[in-house]
Amino acid sequence: WAKAAGGDRYEVYDANRHDAQALRSTLSSGLRSALQRGDFALRYQPIVRLTDGVPIGAEVLLRWTHPEHGPIAPEIFIDLAEELGLIGQLGRWVLTRGCREAAGWYRELGDQAPFISVNLSARQLHDVGLADEVLRTLDEVGLPAHQLQLELTESALLGPAQGPADALEVLAEHGVRVAVDDFGTGYSNLAYLRRLPVRELKIAGAFIEGLAPGHPGTPADRQIVASVIALAHGLNLTVTAEGVETQEQAQLLRSMGCDHAQGWWFARPGDPEVISRMARGRDQSGYSVDPVTTH
Ligand code: C2E
Ligand code: MG
Ligand code: MG
Ligand code: MG
Repeated sequence: WAKAAGGDRYEVYDANRHDAQALRSTLSSGLRSALQRGDFALRYQPIVRLTDGVPIGAEVLLRWTHPEHGPIAPEIFIDLAEELGLIGQLGRWVLTRGCREAAGWYRELGDQAPFISVNLSARQLHDVGLADEVLRTLDEVGLPAHQLQLELTESALLGPAQGPADALEVLAEHGVRVAVDDFGTGYSNLAYLRRLPVRELKIAGAFIEGLAPGHPGTPADRQIVASVIALAHGLNLTVTAEGVETQEQAQLLRSMGCDHAQGWWFARPGDPEVISRMARGRDQSGYSVDPVTTH
């Protein structure tokens, strides 16, 4: 599943181990200069409410196209940016740009505007200045806190450190939403759900894939998805299914009571204008669970 992620082709995945080493150092120096030159781009993927197909939010996904190697998978360059100590700078850029875009939607559409969902790496969460930085950014661009969601993986949320918990608490008090990304793929220690102000669980696409009838993972994956939905609702959280690629999956998820979904069935990550146009016109032809138009 991860290989096809993004709807772009990341050729670097296929490099063998030896090449991978050489590539790492090429990418490392490329990353530094890319930051200076501003060679990154953002894509926005709608998050759709399953009951009526309304785009209620959009996830921001970072893209980097290397001058020689082409598009690099975010998992690769984000890891690298963490190792190189560049993630703070890169993450700030994503946050500011994403929030500025969402502030534009908010000025036009008010509370009908889609919220923006920004991925944070573990390192960013452990950065002591995080809460201040996020609140300052919201203030600067004029985005209300409730229009921002932060996505963190289970591994980022685990661990006893008090700093991240305090930062999330401050942000949550201001109205920022916290979502657990790729829920179910980390460690199954759920204690952090008690400790942290989590508002939403995002079910990893790997489990959604198995919902299709005939898929080898079907019985187990259905059970897992049903359990995550029950867990989320039992804790008063909302739940989003990621990686929804077929209408069958979308309909099944809706019938299972899943709140929100995102995936290629609705829309691939794309330009921000697509999100605002859809939200503005309430033109849900591309987002419907029961589409009128063909895909
Ligand atoms: P994620 O946050 O779980 O994002 C979902 C991934 O699934 C994205 O991959 C998205 O393009 C892809 N996707 C969406 N719909 C479908 C679908 O229907 N089928 C399939 N097969 N894939 C789908 P992408 O853009 O390659 O990003 C990969 C990961 O990189 C993200 O996973 C996230 O963990 C990380 N990432 C991306 N942007 C950022 C960022 O700005 N900051 C940080 N820290 N991490 C980021
Ligand atoms: Mg995410
Ligand atoms: Mg995810
Ligand atoms: Mg992921």
